[in-house]
Amino acid sequence: PVILAIESSCDETSAAVCADGRMLSNVIANQTIHEAYGGVVPELASRVHQQNIVPAVQQALSNAKVSKNDIDAVAFTRGPGLLGSLLVGVSFAKAFALAKNIPLIEVNHMQAHVLAHFIGDNKPSFPFMCLTVSGGHTQIVLVKDYFDMEVVGQTLDDAAGEAMDKTSKILGLPYPGGPLIDKHARSGNPDVYKFPEPQIPGFDFSFSGLKTSILYFIRDNTAANPNFVQENMADICASVEKRIATILLNKLKKAAEYYDIKDVALAGGVSANTGLRNALKETGEQLAWNTFIPKMEYCTDNAAMIAIAGYYKYLKGEFVGQDITPLARMSF
Ligand code: ATP
Ligand code: MG
Ligand code: FE
Repeated sequence: PVILAIESSCDETSAAVCADGRMLSNVIANQTIHEAYGGVVPELASRVHQQNIVPAVQQALSNAKVSKNDIDAVAFTRGPGLLGSLLVGVSFAKAFALAKNIPLIEVNHMQAHVLAHFIGDNKPSFPFMCLTVSGGHTQIVLVKDYFDMEVVGQTLDDAAGEAMDKTSKILGLPYPGGPLIDKHARSGNPDVYKFPEPQIPGFDFSFSGLKTSILYFIRDNTAANPNFVQENMADICASVEKRIATILLNKLKKAAEYYDIKDVALAGGVSANTGLRNALKETGEQLAWNTFIPKMEYCTDNAAMIAIAGYYKYLKGEFVGQDITPLARMSF
């Protein structure tokens, strides 16, 4: 089947086309309007989705060299995400399916982040463990089958991406800060500053204490030297990045050992982080894991992951009706 997929859960408007599970195109329109506000403004995001969705789909069809008539089904992100943003994608998908008289497929955005590993040839085998780290979520997922996943650990407060973004805000960097922390960290020494590792039982995470300790650390050092941040930006970013990576990896190790899993994967926007990618590779070599990291364009929000999830649902004949509604919160 040829599947058109739509992703609009947050601030990326994305459309992708896949044929029999092979990705033909993946167009991502990033919204820059939020930079001025230091975070995503939901109402503005909805409007920009409304503006970009048809051009994104047209571009995805043209890059894939298929016409509207070639599409066999439409997959869309049902949730979780911003309701107004989701509504734009869901409504577009419904209208397209209605006009072409083809089936509709709903996709859970967090499952899709995990299923991004099935794009391309290097696929993990079931059961595998996936650390999904994004702007809104931090989850250790035990993946037993395409749609049989169990969250065995998650954050009790902030997400890992949120910790990145809040740290960058404290450092006076623009939004979104994750990629900038990564950039500065590359020229820094990660062992200069030591930030605390929270002691949380089981496979769960907490990042709010780290954020507070960074806030006090910067406040105290800036009081002594007003240029402290500017002079030490690279070392601060490298040290923060390393701490976030070790917090994540230590829990992942614990979970993989407990469940006796050797196939270990990374997913979500923060898996674009160089320090985390390297840490997973190193740990994988030490523990003889098979490690899986998605290509950069499939880490942050994209419709290709919705398309591949839609493809596996199509094979199972799992379609939804025109009365389907988006869900801001959606578990699996
Ligand atoms: P969710 O998937 O939980 O709904 P989201 O869709 O907003 O949230 P993603 O697009 O998957 O999240 O990821 C965005 C997050 O990834 C942001 O917090 C961003 O700062 C972070 N991020 C992106 N690139 C990097 C990087 N290179 N290093 C660190 N963090 C990064
Ligand atoms: Mg985003
Ligand atoms: Fe996401």
